[in-house]
Amino acid sequence: MREFGCTPTNYYNEGQLEASRMYCPKCGRETAEDAVICPSCGHSIGQTLPLYAPRKTNGKAVASLVLGLVWCLGIGSIIALVLGYGAKREIEDSRGTQEGSGLATAGIVLGWIGVVCMIIYGITMCSALTTL
Ligand SMILES: [Zn+2]
Repeated sequence: MREFGCTPTNYYNEGQLEASRMYCPKCGRETAEDAVICPSCGHSIGQTLPLYAPRKTNGKAVASLVLGLVWCLGIGSIIALVLGYGAKREIEDSRGTQEGSGLATAGIVLGWIGVVCMIIYGITMCSALTTL
């Protein structure tokens, strides 16, 4: 099979071609089955990260979102921010083996909203006390 790897469409039947297809995990474009780097976006694909590998959700990202919702007079929000940024860094470092980036972003956004609410709440309380 001299043509192997050169023109695979001539060699594989449809079923085998389906099984051997690879998609870039970053941009979703179809790539060569033996490609190491995506030709579209340059994302490294590599054999160590098969697409069917179970991606686990980052625990800090989940905790960040929950604490962002809890608020708890701003204490939950501050922890949500710390965990949210930590989770984002861990997800980036995991090179696609962890997910939950959206959750971490939601936790960070809720965290900031909570902090702003805490400041407004503080100012309101202070002004309420001074006008008494
Ligand atoms: Zn790509």
